[in-house]
Amino acid sequence: MKLIRSRKNRKGFTLIELLIVILVLAILMAVALPLYLAAVSDSQVKTCRANMQTISNAEAAYKTQNAAHVYTTTMADLNPNLGSTPVCPSAGAYSVVISTGVETAESGAAVPAGGLIISCSATGHGKFAPGIDAQ
Ligand SMILES: [Zn+2]
Repeated sequence: MKLIRSRKNRKGFTLIELLIVILVLAILMAVALPLYLAAVSDSQVKTCRANMQTISNAEAAYKTQNAAHVYTTTMADLNPNLGSTPVCPSAGAYSVVISTGVETAESGAAVPAGGLIISCSATGHGKFAPGIDAQ
């Protein structure tokens, strides 16, 4: 019976080999994770912007249908045109402001009096002024 097996005949991995595999995986995770999180955050901002556009469209429909032909700042008034109330993917709350002429759009441009500004309370989601901010 052979007591000492040669290195060639051993099965399994050495500790060094396992540590190298773990190190390579850690390096890959360190590169991939920030990119993944940035992509998730970016998609949430874009979804939120699309929701603000939807609210803007519902405001336009409300203004057309309403006898006084004015925008509303009450989100519940938009429900007949929205179908279902848009939900921010980052759990932000939407609010609508009708400009008095001093408010600015996301781009920094002034919003004329009577213009719409739809904003989200979630960090980094900002606001959207239809016709002023890019679609
Ligand atoms: Zn949002």
